[in-house]
Amino acid sequence: MTQYSFLQLAAEALAPHRRVPALKQSELKSRYDVVIVGGGGHGLATAYYLAREHGITDIAVIERGWLGGGNTGRNTTIVRADYLLSGNVPFFGHALGMWGGLSRELNFNVMFSPRGYLDLAHSEGQFDHFTRRANVLSLNGIGARMVDVEELRRLEPALSIGSAAPVPVLGGLVQDGAGTARHDAVAWGYARGAARLGVDIVQGCEVLGFDIEGNSLRGVKTSAGSIRTDTAVVSVAGNSSRVAEMAGLELPIESYAVQAFVSEPLKPILHRVTNMNLGFAYASQTDKGEIVMGGNLEPLASYAQRGSPLRISELSAKLAHILPFLSRSRLMRVWGGIADITTDGSALVGPSPVSGLHLNAGWGYSGFKATPAAGWCMAHSVATGKVHPLIEPFGYERFASGAFLDEGGSGPYPWLH
Ligand SMILES: Cc1cc2nc3c(=O)[nH]c(=O)nc-3n(C[C@H](O)[C@H](O)[C@H](O)COP(=O)(O)OP(=O)(O)OC[C@H]3O[C@@H](n4cnc5c(N)ncnc54)[C@H](O)[C@@H]3O)c2cc1C
Repeated sequence: MTQYSFLQLAAEALAPHRRVPALKQSELKSRYDVVIVGGGGHGLATAYYLAREHGITDIAVIERGWLGGGNTGRNTTIVRADYLLSGNVPFFGHALGMWGGLSRELNFNVMFSPRGYLDLAHSEGQFDHFTRRANVLSLNGIGARMVDVEELRRLEPALSIGSAAPVPVLGGLVQDGAGTARHDAVAWGYARGAARLGVDIVQGCEVLGFDIEGNSLRGVKTSAGSIRTDTAVVSVAGNSSRVAEMAGLELPIESYAVQAFVSEPLKPILHRVTNMNLGFAYASQTDKGEIVMGGNLEPLASYAQRGSPLRISELSAKLAHILPFLSRSRLMRVWGGIADITTDGSALVGPSPVSGLHLNAGWGYSGFKATPAAGWCMAHSVATGKVHPLIEPFGYERFASGAFLDEGGSGPYPWLH
């Protein structure tokens, strides 16, 4: 290893010419083996795994805005795998397993923090349901356990529990290996990794249509010109129906704004990501001390990337029932993203009816945790022509056959039920 003196190190650090851009700006070519529409975590992860796992590097990632400017940089960073149905459990278990090694693999700190995830049970019915969920997860080798009220008090002393508490809490499901990760670092880590393997990443370029001959993809039309390609992946959360429509596809998806908000920084008080199941509201504490909060979608479908103050006040009031200290802390920021929700609440991933056009959509407000595994599986499907078994249950055809993946209850979208 090269040895540097203190003076050499200081000179290196201060020299202006040493500042290299994190990512080279790519010029769009007129032809690619694969075009990926959308420079969020999913699109970038797909490009990275296509290049690293399958040696396909003639790829363009086309992003109409900036990297991670969609839902990837707007989510509440929760990474968990507390699913119940056999179509979801293996995929999300695999996804959770990928987070632990991601910083090392990308040589980019994604700040994965397996601090634990807690799903509170407020009734005997919910307690039974979570027990079933914990058993299913354990049987599939994915860590999860039930805790009673005594243990909850020990794990999270700030929770309001007991006869004087405004809402009943009977216990909860704990997933110790779940937690949070730094959302924009995930986009940047995959972008840098993909670019180093030769992938072109083009920002500020919008996909406006597709060239389709017969039933086969022949090209992609962008605001910077047309590209010839036989293979494209649409990975545009929040805009999936509109982009799919450009290829003549109607998706079983509605889009809703979903908001998140943070408090001022507080001393460490909330150790796990904590989900309240009277309605849907959750909170976690960042390393800076802010409490990050989120919950239900806005009630009306729209493409607005913002929501109403009413939803914020409703969610904060709910959370203050179990975390009373919140009622005395100030909110600092509120923001919104757009979630694409399928009719059964699960993702829509795989080949589309147009040959060569693949869809990676419908992750709603739970797709951040899926980022590494979705990219990995999508890359496998595109490179080999065979849908990866982990994403087979997310296929387009289930909406015609009726083989829905309807993960309700306290799954992704409790309000669907
Ligand atoms: C407020 C909020 C909280 C959330 N919390 C969580 C959470 O805690 N945990 C979790 O797992 N998930 C969460 N999610 C969901 C998660 O953020 C998304 O499912 C995930 O980030 C989707 O990633 P993506 O790469 O598919 O999409 P995005 O990051 O949205 O990327 C899609 C990109 O496509 C681009 N694009 C769109 N149209 C075009 C076009 N025509 N041409 C070119 N580019 C285009 C967009 O500009 C965008 O950058 C949350 C979402 C929101 C909004």
